[in-house]
Amino acid sequence: ARIEAIGHCLFLNAKMSVSGIMEDSDDAGWDDLPEDDEMETWNHDIDDIEAQIPRTGKDAPYTIMAPADMQKKERERISDVAEILGISPSESAILLRSFQWNQSELIERYVEGPGPLRIELGVDCDSEPASNSSRIIECPQCYEDVDSSASFHLQCGHQSCERCWTDYLTECVDQGSASVLARCNYYRCKLIVPDEVFERFLDDHHIQRRRKFLIRSYIEGSKSLAWCPGAGCEFAAEYTQGGPLEIHCQCGTRFCFKCHEISHRPAPCEWATKWRVKGNSEAENATWILANTKACLKCNVQIEKNQGCNHMICRNCKHEFCWLCKGAWKDHGSATGGYYKCNLYEEAQAKGQVTEEEKVADKAKNELQKYLHYFQRFDNHDKAIKYAKKTLKECDDKMRELQDIKGGGFNDVQFLINAVKTVIECRRLLKWTYCFGYYLETGIEKYLFERLQQDLEKYTEHLHELSEKPIEDLINDVMRSEINNYTRVTERFREQMMNGIETGLTDEAG
Ligand SMILES: [Zn+2]
Ligand SMILES: [Zn+2]
Ligand SMILES: [Zn+2]
Ligand SMILES: [Zn+2]
Ligand SMILES: [Zn+2]
Ligand SMILES: [Zn+2]
Repeated sequence: ARIEAIGHCLFLNAKMSVSGIMEDSDDAGWDDLPEDDEMETWNHDIDDIEAQIPRTGKDAPYTIMAPADMQKKERERISDVAEILGISPSESAILLRSFQWNQSELIERYVEGPGPLRIELGVDCDSEPASNSSRIIECPQCYEDVDSSASFHLQCGHQSCERCWTDYLTECVDQGSASVLARCNYYRCKLIVPDEVFERFLDDHHIQRRRKFLIRSYIEGSKSLAWCPGAGCEFAAEYTQGGPLEIHCQCGTRFCFKCHEISHRPAPCEWATKWRVKGNSEAENATWILANTKACLKCNVQIEKNQGCNHMICRNCKHEFCWLCKGAWKDHGSATGGYYKCNLYEEAQAKGQVTEEEKVADKAKNELQKYLHYFQRFDNHDKAIKYAKKTLKECDDKMRELQDIKGGGFNDVQFLINAVKTVIECRRLLKWTYCFGYYLETGIEKYLFERLQQDLEKYTEHLHELSEKPIEDLINDVMRSEINNYTRVTERFREQMMNGIETGLTDEAG
């Protein structure tokens, strides 16, 4: 809470200074951008905050786990709990999996009364073990007589032949993740099959397969772990504090630890989820149909209006009608206003005779227009990000060319790639501000938010333009430092704006 408070009030100050810098320099031209030391005052404070909220690198509050680390960690957790409770690792594994890896809750419940819990979770059986001391037994699964040395049973004493055990456990694994907590193969027996029994009866392929399910249950069950949603990525993140945080995976994906989706800062998870669902939902289609089609009076088929003209011909029954008043087209003509106007409709409207269908359509139309307004901007930034990523290679070539012309180190031409990267970062943020803005209620916060959004749009477009300057312009040292400065100021503004939105732009919210 302390960090948020600092971030919040600092943001407002910084916001004013950035706006000041940006606006002044608009008039004065970019040669007048502040030098490093002028910006020092607030840069320092920002650096302090950034140091407190590390998001990447070794100081980040989370770790990225490769598949090999996961198994190691899973084993460690299991043996830790085994040691604490004084039980075997395979018992500890069953208990942890049943408790969705909630270690503290498990320990608490276990200490309260291990006996009933062990029975409830299938570590122990609730009755005396079935005993059979004869040398030859009839396997209850396949009804073959087998030597008792070729049969096997768990603690419950339910014997069956080894072949049947192999078949049963293999089948369990083939069926999928239920094999994580599979029960004894005897009808109604609740005892859970321990890991070592699987290892004993399964072939290597099935052992590996089950391990994958075990790891999955470990990652998905643990509140402090999350898979990276990046395509084909097998890494997971561990964040013991839990809650919302942007994770930077080694595969380059950024994702939200809370909802496990691709990062959606600054929009909260709830809005981002709603927005995604909306983007491909049936409801949206329905709204579109309501806003853009009308039912034919004769046959009731929905007709889409796709041109400006009001003369509609039903493609089903060929009924001709007017889009506006829905009257038969034969009553229309130059007297009613021609093809693009309908006096009958205007008269009816003037008398307040608006049909229910029209009211619904109007409402749908407004809602749809609002959504499209935000969605188009969201989508444009998304496309621009993809495009900009493709141009990174060209940018690299340009930098080398520039270095050849100007001499100096590769560091001297880094400003160009930094500019492009900043443009990408800004668009990433801008993209999700349209989801945020769509759901944000009208008020002072929205007013402040939209001003910042507009500013960032402006800076981003300008930086984008600068970054695409032809090489002849880039040779100029003034241009070079202009791009450098503009990149830095824009980047600071972006960072501050993002943190500001997340912590609240008004005092009530912050
Ligand atoms: Zn059998
Ligand atoms: Zn059993
Ligand atoms: Zn990843
Ligand atoms: Zn989220
Ligand atoms: Zn019709
Ligand atoms: Zn009409």
